[in-house]
Amino acid sequence: MQRIVLASRPNGAPTPENFRLESLDIPTPGKGEVLVKAEYMSLDPYMRGRMDDAKSYAAPVAVGAQMEGGAVGEVLISNHPDLTPGDKVLGMFGWASHAAVPGDELQKLDASLTPTSLALGALGMPGFTGWHGLTVHGRPKAGETLVVAAATGPVGSMVGQLAKAAGLRVVGIAGGGEKCALATRTFGFDACLDHRAYDTAQELQAALTEICPDGIDIYFENVGGKVLEAVLPLMNRFGRIPLCGMIAWYDGAADTQLSGPGIWRTVLVKHLSINGFIIANHFDQYPAFLQEVGPMVASGQVKFMEDVAEGLENAPTAFMSMLKGGNTGKQVVKLA
Ligand code: NDP
Repeated sequence: MQRIVLASRPNGAPTPENFRLESLDIPTPGKGEVLVKAEYMSLDPYMRGRMDDAKSYAAPVAVGAQMEGGAVGEVLISNHPDLTPGDKVLGMFGWASHAAVPGDELQKLDASLTPTSLALGALGMPGFTGWHGLTVHGRPKAGETLVVAAATGPVGSMVGQLAKAAGLRVVGIAGGGEKCALATRTFGFDACLDHRAYDTAQELQAALTEICPDGIDIYFENVGGKVLEAVLPLMNRFGRIPLCGMIAWYDGAADTQLSGPGIWRTVLVKHLSINGFIIANHFDQYPAFLQEVGPMVASGQVKFMEDVAEGLENAPTAFMSMLKGGNTGKQVVKLA
């Protein structure tokens, strides 16, 4: 089998030297365990955080240890009563071609789910994140205006499409003209701004002011940085900010003029609600999400897009590219 380990911790943006491809014997599953051959593995922004040893909500990956993450695959050998060879399963196998994992930690996928990579994107953790953040913390109402950045990714595109279905005016922010066209044409956003086309937060804010004439009621926060700086002053009274991510700062660089007093004053006088959340703590709601959104994806009402890299050895390059916006849609890796 092959796997990718964390070779060293990044200093700023990750580089190829931070990763190492290793070959090992295929593991033998123990009592209650299952041997899985991975088909698709997920690449997610949170993995950048696991590469650092700073204190966080989850333990860091140790130097020399396998990179962690979700994956789907096929059961080859089963020592678990509920799983048989040929079953498709979802689990945290990490960046590896094979894994021997406790059967109790796996979720058996519905045989009708195609592609199985959907369990890593629109119908997996990122789609669920968008649904949870929007419904629980965004509390959307028809006629309101919502803004979301990383608009064509699996979180942002889910947020935008669900908000649209709920009758909101939806404005995306994405990197580049092609992604903006995708947001409006494929995902049905009302408008989309290319954040790379504006050098400063003030310029982005001026453009947002024009396309959000009634202000902003919900800002689904995925990125921080320049976008947050542009959006915050445009929030309406009693606006909501589901605080999901801040990818602009994951490498540690603060590319913003945001000031603590300025932020707090805005939150205070506008009666804003800001709710941070870590989706791993809310999986009790996952069945409700699947029940509501599963049929919307199956019928095509909610669309999804995937960016498929080929081969485990190309995972680090795809990951580094995704962090900078090189992905179009949910970034997965198809294993040989
Ligand atoms: P995406 O597939 O959308 O990939 C990340 C995107 O972030 C890039 O494609 C890029 O899009 C955008 N981006 C990168 N740098 C910047 C920047 N400086 N300014 C603006 N945009 C930037 O990711 P996901 O949909 O998987 O995740 C979206 C966010 O949700 C992330 O912050 C992630 O950490 C967070 N998240 C949080 C969870 C939680 O439990 N709280 C769970 C899952 C995700 P573009 O080219 O359009 O700019």
